[in-house]
Amino acid sequence: MKALIKIWKSIVTRRMYITGGIGSTVSGEAFTLDYDLPNDTMYCETCASVGLVFFAYRMLLSEEKGEYADVMERALYNTVLGGVALDGKHFFYVNPLEAVPGKSSKDPGKSHVKCVRPQWLGCACCPPNLARLLASVEQYVFVQKKDKLLVNLFVECKGRFEIGDGILEIELKTGYPWDGCVDIKLNYNGTASVCLGIRVPSWSDTFDAELNQEHAVFEEKDGFIYVNQVFSQDTIRLKLDMQAKRWYANPLVENNLGKFAVSRGPFVYCLEEADNGKNLHLLSVEKQEELKYEFDETLLGGVGVLTASGWKTEAVSGVEGLYRKNTAEEKKARTKIKWIPYYSWANRGENEMRVWVREDNQC
Ligand SMILES: [Zn+2]
Repeated sequence: MKALIKIWKSIVTRRMYITGGIGSTVSGEAFTLDYDLPNDTMYCETCASVGLVFFAYRMLLSEEKGEYADVMERALYNTVLGGVALDGKHFFYVNPLEAVPGKSSKDPGKSHVKCVRPQWLGCACCPPNLARLLASVEQYVFVQKKDKLLVNLFVECKGRFEIGDGILEIELKTGYPWDGCVDIKLNYNGTASVCLGIRVPSWSDTFDAELNQEHAVFEEKDGFIYVNQVFSQDTIRLKLDMQAKRWYANPLVENNLGKFAVSRGPFVYCLEEADNGKNLHLLSVEKQEELKYEFDETLLGGVGVLTASGWKTEAVSGVEGLYRKNTAEEKKARTKIKWIPYYSWANRGENEMRVWVREDNQC
């Protein structure tokens, strides 16, 4: 257990991508060194994130800590889901955080990074790994330990557990992951106290909980809130903070310095050429700019979209040659910047994609 905790800490505090991807190099699809997280040459294999879900789940069975379920959710909703196209028939093995079609075709160091999901690869590991995880996702939603039940993932479902001296029926009703309100309906026929633990994701800065429609303060420990009582027919409502968030990498991650990534709920977001044009690296957003959320049911099977007012550097106009001594001639124009959830990228043909976006404070 000591060794596992050491490996876990190494991964999640120094070697994991914000998308829950792991494996910084194509060579051996392996880890490299701490804080080495290149966005465009990494591997981040779909299988590796499936494996990370398995690892996180088993750590959660050993220790009741929300951080395990947080990582499980991060990998599941981002790199794992991104591994399959919306048509369910095309798959990524490599899950980049930055992709440019021309570089993938002309730079041998990036030839493993595909900009659309292939239908088949000689080594068919990721598609069945994805299928078995998605087909068994119910086993990750709850964890039972004697008279304690943990709710880890907020998936609409019904569960039935022999617990205490009775049967606990539990039903999750929610519009998650787009909506942050989760209703947990309980029906217990026993007389024993049951301890119900509900994860509060670490990305949720605030939360509110109700027991039978009344505001309640529950015991909080290691990323879970706990209700310990004799249940009968009860409802717990959890309201999570669904504000879009900006994230910054540790400054030792050289590729992400001066950049931010965006999330809302469990989803990490990305920019795509289809919405923002070519040369996504020319886009920047000021620190104070508000991120607006809207659900677009006509886009990509229905996705929550984030937008902000930003800038696009006009790289060509007035600037000749490769190098110059000042940037006075450089111009930039106001532009609307649009993010989509990372999992839904590369479903509109081959195009650029980028997770980390430049942040600036200039007007
Ligand atoms: Zn694989």
